[in-house]
Amino acid sequence: MPTAIRSLNWPHLLLLLALWPYAALTAEAGWSPDLVLGGGTLGALLWLMLWERLLPLRQQWQARPAELKRDGAFLGINAVADAAAGFVLTGLALYGANLQPEAGLAAGLPPLLALPLAIALGELGPFALHRLAHRRPWAWRIHELHHRPTKLNAANSVLAHPLNVIWNKLARVLPWLLLGFDQTTMLWAALFMQVQGIAVHANIRGSLGPLDRLIGSAELHRWHHSVIEAEAHNYGTAIPLWDQLFGSYVRRPGEQPRTVGIFGGQVRAAKARDP
Ligand SMILES: [Zn+2]
Repeated sequence: MPTAIRSLNWPHLLLLLALWPYAALTAEAGWSPDLVLGGGTLGALLWLMLWERLLPLRQQWQARPAELKRDGAFLGINAVADAAAGFVLTGLALYGANLQPEAGLAAGLPPLLALPLAIALGELGPFALHRLAHRRPWAWRIHELHHRPTKLNAANSVLAHPLNVIWNKLARVLPWLLLGFDQTTMLWAALFMQVQGIAVHANIRGSLGPLDRLIGSAELHRWHHSVIEAEAHNYGTAIPLWDQLFGSYVRRPGEQPRTVGIFGGQVRAAKARDP
């Protein structure tokens, strides 16, 4: 097998390919959107954790039992935060439907156009807030938790402050509601984005090759967690579109940051905040 094919991150690619039949089959079976999202996210997490054991990029990044316990707790806490944000969004959607009963701008788009558009728009708000969180001390205070680990793996991808989870969900879903995307498009876009959020942190060997100009990869996102400020970019997770447009795209095939965690500038900012 040619090296270029062998060096791909197959567990990530197969997971993305499996989303299509998963979404179609669960729709056929009449699963609720919450069950499709929850089941898909948990299934993706377990799949990636399995491959982290079989094809780890760095042995020392394997999750220890105490860390798994911490990450499991955050998974539960953030599921509640996500549900709370969903509750607010449902209220806003009902309010919006009363104000403007006719279908929104995006309702009539063909699915092959609606889905990439929903993903691109759904990524824009969280991308902008993520950049802001690295520049404003008040927002960094909340986002910092996600950068504390000195290892990256699928389990600790869920390590985030609940407020971080809430603002990401609101920023992702509000544009969808405002533009009136249909339920199926929103569900598939949300599933893709949630799975990507885990996959780009996974400690699995390989890359997505040239596909990482279209789709977020672990090879790209590890740079975001670098302790070297100049290379700690790549704020997007699902897709690198906005990083490429706003000049924060770092792509160094076959390379990876030496150390991940919180970089010096962030520590100085934190000290200035809490003398
Ligand atoms: Zn960050």
